[in-house]
Amino acid sequence: MQALQPLLGRTLLVLAHPDDECVTYGALLQRMADPIVRFMTDGAPRDPYFWGRYGSREAYAALRQQEARRALARIGVQRVEFVSEGYHGRKREGGGAASDILVDQGLFRILPAAWRELVDAVERLRPQALLTLAYEGGHPDHDSCNLLVSLATKRFGLPAWEAPIYNRACETDAARLEPQRFARENGTETDVRPTALEVEHKRAMWSEYASQGDFLQFFSPERECVRPLPAYDYSAPPHPGQLNYERWQWPMTGSDVCRAFVSFLEQFRELGRAEAGGNSQASADIRT
Ligand SMILES: [Zn+2]
Repeated sequence: MQALQPLLGRTLLVLAHPDDECVTYGALLQRMADPIVRFMTDGAPRDPYFWGRYGSREAYAALRQQEARRALARIGVQRVEFVSEGYHGRKREGGGAASDILVDQGLFRILPAAWRELVDAVERLRPQALLTLAYEGGHPDHDSCNLLVSLATKRFGLPAWEAPIYNRACETDAARLEPQRFARENGTETDVRPTALEVEHKRAMWSEYASQGDFLQFFSPERECVRPLPAYDYSAPPHPGQLNYERWQWPMTGSDVCRAFVSFLEQFRELGRAEAGGNSQASADIRT
């Protein structure tokens, strides 16, 4: 367990949605001295399929945020941030309300804004390590968090680790949704091996997510696995064959997401070159 030591101080978790934290890091969170959990979306997709019974997308987002705070309070984690909160009341450039731009499923479409939020958070919170979700094609927001953290680890010189949540990378059964296993193992994985008490606390966390119905039963609270963030090629989907969100017939494909990643990375590199050349205006712009 010595390998996990760098993750147990002031660690910033960069996640996409309420409940990501308890599936992927519920035990590890209980061992950290000063964890901070930051959710990069508001947890509510645009499709009324997800929020219809709550009356509005905003009501569903508010409920999910309350659930996350209660779940994390179960293990004594008070430092919980929702990027979307910062947007309430702000105006989007060019007019219009900005409160709806960090919606669930849409992170890959607003990477510059998400990057700016992450840079601000790291500068303000001064974490010693970053944790995020694996690049695995389960959910485009999870993959977007992975990309953003890969850039943050370079910019700030911080160690970054990832955890799997779900994917369809299984070579022998492409139809199977695999929980909590990396799409491809590379030998650097560490099993967290939660204690019985940590598992009990994880179950208490999960019980706070009533809005997610049976979905959390798909996961095992006993299983938790992490590894250092590898160097991914974000121009290609995480694995061959159909990705999970394609199989779920969501309104984006792996190609759409990769195209957005490549476009953002190109913009990022151009600004980085200008910054290295001493262009102070670019230095400010790289954060956008
Ligand atoms: Zn998620």
